[in-house]
Amino acid sequence: MAKKAMETGLDKVVALCKRRGFVFPSSEIYGGLNSIWDYGPLGIELKNNLQRLWWNAMVHQHENIVGLDAAILMHPDIWRASGHVDGFTDPLVDCKQCKTRFRADDLAMEVCPECGGELTEPRNFNLMFKTFMGPVEEQAATVFLRPETAQGIYVNYQNVINSSRMKVPFGIAQVGKAFRNEITPGNFIFRTREFEQMEMQFFVKPGEDGTWMEYWRRQRYDFYLALGIPDEKLRLHEHKGDELAHYARAAYDIEYEFSFGWQELEGIHNRTDFDLVRHQEHSHKKLEYFDEIAGERYLPYIIETSAGLNRSMLMFLDNAYTEDEIDGEKRVVLKLHPKLAPVKAAVFPLVKKDGLPEIARQIITELRPHWNVFYDQSGAIGRRYRRMDEIGTPWCITVDYDSKEDGCVTLRDRDTLAQERVKIDELPHIILDKMK
Ligand code: ATP
Repeated sequence: MAKKAMETGLDKVVALCKRRGFVFPSSEIYGGLNSIWDYGPLGIELKNNLQRLWWNAMVHQHENIVGLDAAILMHPDIWRASGHVDGFTDPLVDCKQCKTRFRADDLAMEVCPECGGELTEPRNFNLMFKTFMGPVEEQAATVFLRPETAQGIYVNYQNVINSSRMKVPFGIAQVGKAFRNEITPGNFIFRTREFEQMEMQFFVKPGEDGTWMEYWRRQRYDFYLALGIPDEKLRLHEHKGDELAHYARAAYDIEYEFSFGWQELEGIHNRTDFDLVRHQEHSHKKLEYFDEIAGERYLPYIIETSAGLNRSMLMFLDNAYTEDEIDGEKRVVLKLHPKLAPVKAAVFPLVKKDGLPEIARQIITELRPHWNVFYDQSGAIGRRYRRMDEIGTPWCITVDYDSKEDGCVTLRDRDTLAQERVKIDELPHIILDKMK
């Protein structure tokens, strides 16, 4: 019987990530830095795959979406215009007894959940990291590490129109780091102070915003389904009343059922013309769009899709983590979608001699231009399979003595454990087909 991560908790995913080089605690030899993580050799492959798939789905699959890579440091007035300097705060309370800090809106009780002590009154805590530009540490030199990538898109929207002849409706996509001095980071890479966002801002004619909101809500939900997240572990949460951010007319969160509960994965927001109005006011530059066909000028409305790259990665790991048993032996297997898998195929010579390694190496040479593949000749075949299962490698290819005669190898499937005999020459096509 397969046992999913949901029942076994986050701990096993965390342990696997450390053991196999997906995620390491940052600065570990110095005792670590609270809730900051580094991505190891397999983690960066998974993260890059996810990012590329997102980019492909958003930018390459849509003629009217282009990419951007804005700087992390931006003019500080951008954060005044956006409302972050005044309003990007969380209510913070301290326990007077044990000094633990909490986000007031996370607390269900009026006393400290750790020790039962009395809590201070909530005070607003700004989540933006500040630093100084240039040699003088003074107020005028203060800049912020961006808390979201979106503003870099808004302030470049006219540059994009002027340089790429985009016409409304069109979108700008960006992947990049964001920083938030979260009061209560945690749950591994779920909530951290440094993270990456994958955001797309879609500029539409006012009045057409409702239709586009529906379109993007569906698209984004389907993205996760197509990569193997089951429908029952996803849901849409619509923001109502007080929940709606000051800038939003409508908002949905795509939520995933983590082992620690239903949590936001991605936000889809109708931000109206809020951001462009504010930037127009603060920059004193006209940001209107001129619709040549209708002969009209207007400020477009913006539909935003904003996903966390690290958080989605955690979802895919959590969903993929499975324990089962083969021939009475426990197996840990990451049932990642092949497109996400850090290593697509492993090639094993049955033994380290008699010309089998040479054939295996030849196969690696054939496959390497297309996929990240791995050669392994050490240990019993069963153990080599297990090592690959644990990191989610969908296919293992074994070269045996018969391969020398018939030019065939055994192709083993991670999930079904089926083994088929296939021609070496056909391997690239077979894998390409299976990948689809
Ligand atoms: P939350 O309510 O969880 O703090 P949010 O509503 O502030 O999130 P957004 O500002 O909409 O989040 O950011 C978009 C996405 O960025 C989120 O859905 C999430 O996937 C990701 N994200 C936000 N904050 C963090 C964080 N501290 N660590 C990791 N990912 C984050």
